[in-house]
Amino acid sequence: MGELRDRFWELPLKELNRAEWEALCDGCGRCCLHKIEDADTGEIADTNVACKLLDCSTGRCTDYRNRKVFVPDCLRLTYRIMDDVPWLPKTCAYRLRAEGKPLYEWHHLLSGDPEAVVRAGVSVAGRVISEYDAGPLEHHIVEWDW
Ligand code: SF4
Ligand code: SF4
Repeated sequence: MGELRDRFWELPLKELNRAEWEALCDGCGRCCLHKIEDADTGEIADTNVACKLLDCSTGRCTDYRNRKVFVPDCLRLTYRIMDDVPWLPKTCAYRLRAEGKPLYEWHHLLSGDPEAVVRAGVSVAGRVISEYDAGPLEHHIVEWDW
């Protein structure tokens, strides 16, 4: 995995080791929401429906280590696929760093507070429902204000 180097989040994304890559996530949970892609236009609509493994009250994956067993298509973000995920939120730490931008001050690596992402209003915590309860995704299209 590798050690976390001092201020590693300021290094170019491609230079991060595995541990640093994992630690970069701000925990917003927004990449864990279902999206609907229009088969004809390729347009992507957001929904407020979360992956079944997401704890909707905290916005965190309930079994990150074993997630692929339960959710085989869970996105595994890597440096190589950054160009293929334009839908990542503008506040996503990976997107920011891929664009050479600094992290927001609320990011836990800077604030030291994993809950600061919730107070900053960019976490899904308390704002989404589980796919277990949602019914048809088409009924849950939303335009997020974050
Ligand atoms: S959108 Fe980015 S920062 Fe937020 S949970 Fe997903 S990978 Fe982490
Ligand atoms: S398995 Fe976990 S990390 Fe993957 S989309 Fe679901 S909640 Fe998110």
